[in-house]
Amino acid sequence: MKEISVQTHARFEMIDITAAVQKAVRDEKIESGIGLVYTPHTTAAVTINENADPDVPRDILAALDRAVPLSANYRHAEGNSAAHVKSSLVGASEMVIIENGRLILGTWQSIFFCEFDGPRTRKVYISFKF
Ligand code: ZN
Repeated sequence: MKEISVQTHARFEMIDITAAVQKAVRDEKIESGIGLVYTPHTTAAVTINENADPDVPRDILAALDRAVPLSANYRHAEGNSAAHVKSSLVGASEMVIIENGRLILGTWQSIFFCEFDGPRTRKVYISFKF
């Protein structure tokens, strides 16, 4: 298993971690298999989507914010229920196929770490199966 540290800089943010995941594949000398990209946080998530147009992650964050507003009579006393809900909607992990030492991603796809309650220092774990 490999661990990646992600420093987020805003309350809501999607950070492209594709290069770091590809580096983990290279470092572990994985030729083919499956990589599980997982974040152990309850107010963050991992997703795969378009990164060619930076308006796509911006639109995703804006749509999530409209769907799950910051305040909505939540009961959780910590005050970050919206971030918990977004984390569950997007999900804590993604699986990626690896062939010939490379992540198999579509032309426009990137792997994103999603911050919903930043800024914080976050962890992403990557585990490989063959
Ligand atoms: Zn909380």
